[in-house]
Amino acid sequence: MLEFPIQYDEPLFRPPSEGRSLIIQITLGCSWNKCSFCEMYTSKQFKARNQDDVFKDIEAFKSHSENITKVFLADGDPLVLSNKRLIPILQKLNETFPNLRRISTYASPSNLMRKTAEELLDLRKNGLSLLYVGIESGDSEVLEAIQKGETYQTTVDGLNKSKKAGMDSSVMIINGVGGKLLSKQHAIHSARVLNATQPKFASTLVLTAHKGMEHYKNRYLGEFIELEEIELFEEMKLFLENIELETTIFRSDHASNSLVLKGVLGRDKNAMIAQIEEAIALGRGNRLRSHQGY
Ligand code: SF4
Repeated sequence: MLEFPIQYDEPLFRPPSEGRSLIIQITLGCSWNKCSFCEMYTSKQFKARNQDDVFKDIEAFKSHSENITKVFLADGDPLVLSNKRLIPILQKLNETFPNLRRISTYASPSNLMRKTAEELLDLRKNGLSLLYVGIESGDSEVLEAIQKGETYQTTVDGLNKSKKAGMDSSVMIINGVGGKLLSKQHAIHSARVLNATQPKFASTLVLTAHKGMEHYKNRYLGEFIELEEIELFEEMKLFLENIELETTIFRSDHASNSLVLKGVLGRDKNAMIAQIEEAIALGRGNRLRSHQGY
């Protein structure tokens, strides 16, 4: 049996759409590691990997170089690194893989705000073209409660700054993350963040407490009352009613969603709202919850 050429530092996460990409870990863990809903990297101490080790991982795929068209940089927030460290990695990827079409990574709005416009442009020129940004909510009160370390404004500014540098973004909102008490403002302000940034891709998933709801509540700053399924649908409806997007590809099809929605916003906005109204009337979504996960 052929051995996989590199050994990852587990756990390893990547967005579903990067399933066919080569994943290169350039940092381990997440430098923030505080969000109340996120257990992805709580077992890891954040660190930047040694450049020689990163280059060795890239070299290990040299014999497959013709076939590699997409690379995803892991773990949680590689853009916390300086351009002095990032640019040589991007250049090495471009030199090693002649058919490379896309380099992507997770990024936080704060990562983006800490870079100058020139630095972002430099990253884009060297091939970094898609950012996965977990916005989670556009509402500053919710963002504070979930310890995201962002506000409505930092999110809008960070996303627009990267857009100006020519980078696309794929953003994610968490349905139910503010519970019953903040549900309405979460829905409305999350729609407003998207309207103000017009991302290329957007998706939603349902809040999943991987270590149980009590654990989530303990990390949530404030009172949290979980939404019932119908209330999750109502929150989604209010979110979509407030959406004013032009050509964003929207997906709400993560395993955590019992109501699957897909389309282009704004074109398919009314059809999606009608689907939600049907789910509310029936009291159930259009698929059974099979499993949960990131
Ligand atoms: S959600 Fe993102 S920023 Fe927050 S702790 Fe998890 S990986 Fe880090």
